[in-house]
Amino acid sequence: MRLAKFDGGRIGIIVPGDAPADDRIVDISDLAPLPVGTWPPVAEIALIAQFAGIRPALEAAAAQRPAQRLAEVRLEAPVTWPNKLLAYPANYHAHIAEMSSQNRADKNGFFLKAPSSISGPNDPIVIPDIDGREVHHECELAIVIGKGGRHVARADALAHIFGYACLVDMTVRGQEERVMRKSFDTFCPLGPWIVTADEIDDPDRLDLQLTVNGEVRQQANTRDLIVDVRDMIVLASSVSTLYPGDVIATGTPEGVGPLAAGDTVVITIAGVGSMTLPVVQGQGGSNIAFEHHNALRAAGEEDRWKSGTATV
Ligand code: MN
Repeated sequence: MRLAKFDGGRIGIIVPGDAPADDRIVDISDLAPLPVGTWPPVAEIALIAQFAGIRPALEAAAAQRPAQRLAEVRLEAPVTWPNKLLAYPANYHAHIAEMSSQNRADKNGFFLKAPSSISGPNDPIVIPDIDGREVHHECELAIVIGKGGRHVARADALAHIFGYACLVDMTVRGQEERVMRKSFDTFCPLGPWIVTADEIDDPDRLDLQLTVNGEVRQQANTRDLIVDVRDMIVLASSVSTLYPGDVIATGTPEGVGPLAAGDTVVITIAGVGSMTLPVVQGQGGSNIAFEHHNALRAAGEEDRWKSGTATV
């Protein structure tokens, strides 16, 4: 089943057509345990939490209710207010090599992005106005948690997954706190919907691809993950209780690179979906931390800052 949000927080089930252009959507907002359109927007998370009990009604609705053409609605991020947006760094061997990184997901664990960085499949990626910085795309598989829990065993890990989505982990490159560099609004496009876990035979065997202006920049398979999907659940839940609706960005393969206003990014994950995202230039976004490091770079003291001996 594909669960989507659309047109101001409504919740829908996608009814696939023979071709993607024939896909339709059935509004099942009334079947969510909480009213849609209220704030904070957590109706879909309540639905995910109670999905097993609601699923028969959802399937009946998808079969019996009138469906709109998908092209006639505006899809939104399928989850917008998760308790946590976890992310793994450096989780593919080749990406570590290209970044000359000492980080590894199995050595450094996970980090967090602001959930407010989540944007939808029809929202542009907004590049902040920061002098001299590259803003990179990272093509990632997203895990959406269905059943919460702490200290999840590897053998039980897949049972905690509600489904999967495409995710772009946008990043300002630099030395500042990673959380800040990755938490700008629109820095986490998520969607176009959530494919429930029962439709994915093996999450560790998924092809993923990201193109910029039609050119393939990232192409990989989740079989090359260093920490695989099960162990990402184990690792995260060893620290934090996972809740329904939590999102895990699973790490990016090689091929990351800068985006600029006017670019068009397409992320595709086989069996999951695809999003086409325009890139636009935003205003603002710099701050004293970015400006401080730009001053260090201008003075040639960036390396001395890392060693604690900079004078700027
Ligand atoms: Mn990433």
